[in-house]
Amino acid sequence: MGNVVDETVLSSVDYAVSHLKAPLVVVLGHTGCGAVNSAINGNASGMIKKTIDKISKIIGETKDDYLATCKNVNFGVNEIKTALCTHNPHLKVIGAVYHSDIGTVDFDIV
Ligand SMILES: [Zn+2]
Repeated sequence: MGNVVDETVLSSVDYAVSHLKAPLVVVLGHTGCGAVNSAINGNASGMIKKTIDKISKIIGETKDDYLATCKNVNFGVNEIKTALCTHNPHLKVIGAVYHSDIGTVDFDIV
């Protein structure tokens, strides 16, 4: 829940890329995400609020679940590219969305 890039995520991805030589990073969001839904509806509280606030800034006024998920995924892709691609020029970072209702993955997101 709450597909966002932070220092812990970046350090794990960096390890996979730099030490394990992973050539591809896929940021996989999903429809029906409770965190994205909470960001759309502005009803977060508790410790998760920091994550929801970050997603809220990313999705802006977007109310559509799929479009908001795509925005969040694309933001994460760009964060990882910014952090890792200069040191790993051959690295590919792509975004995708898992459709929770039908079980398919959309690799061609908006
Ligand atoms: Zn989720």
